[in-house]
Amino acid sequence: MRPTHKPLPDVYRDHHADDALPMGDVITKLHDICGEYCAYCEMRLGGGYVLHHKLQRQPPDAVRKADWPHLNLICYDCRRHKTRDSLTEDELDDYLWPDQHPSFSLHGHSPLRYLLRPVPYVIHDFDGSEERIDQEFVFVEVNPRAPPALQAKAAKTIELFQLNSPHYDADRHVVSISREDHMRIPCHRLQQRTLAWTRAKGSVSRIRQMRALPEAQEHPGLVEMLRQQVNHTAHATGNWSVWMTHFWQELGEKDLIKRTFLETAEENPGFHFPGTAHDRLEWEAL
Ligand SMILES: [Zn+2]
Repeated sequence: MRPTHKPLPDVYRDHHADDALPMGDVITKLHDICGEYCAYCEMRLGGGYVLHHKLQRQPPDAVRKADWPHLNLICYDCRRHKTRDSLTEDELDDYLWPDQHPSFSLHGHSPLRYLLRPVPYVIHDFDGSEERIDQEFVFVEVNPRAPPALQAKAAKTIELFQLNSPHYDADRHVVSISREDHMRIPCHRLQQRTLAWTRAKGSVSRIRQMRALPEAQEHPGLVEMLRQQVNHTAHATGNWSVWMTHFWQELGEKDLIKRTFLETAEENPGFHFPGTAHDRLEWEAL
């Protein structure tokens, strides 16, 4: 869950706290400030996103300036599978919010971590029979090395949005799904997170192959061109935390990661991850 900064846009600064904000403009502003990714699962949103008010599941009919700290963009899966219809102001502090907390970092104490794990995917048929497929998915999990308070928030947030799909039973480590739901593709997040991992893995492999070529040693610009293409692929795929995790685990090159996934709008307009809270990122081997 990419940590973000979400400052109030200048155009709203002179509004009073109870002034209504234009909904379309709010969505556009959030898109510009934090990027076209779900704030919670990091899936690329494309055209399919809605405004999320942290206190409720349903998209708000109207928002005020005072609501700004509660607003994020959310994908249909995270909204649909949210387990609570509403939260109270007091309950907000029980959860990990990407626009407030150090939600993910390349650090041993990151509250969330991303792991590719084999898992049985069991489809239940109408006649009571089962089909078992051995799958691999990237799961988002609570990091047992994180401070206990952040672990508790992380666990509640994974549960709140069912970030590993509503069909995943974490206690039994199995995805258990009816044939009907399986045929509907009810949740894209596990698949999209795993697709990002696969693309990140392929990208690392190509960088290694390119670096080994004699031509690349004569022309270092070739590796740089490949790096730029990796940046474009990551931007188009989403799931920034997965890209960060895989590149850090495989290459461990802070400079490469900074230039590929942590560029600012000034450094790489159109192909940066907007709003990333650099001051909440820490670096250390996972
Ligand atoms: Zn989502």
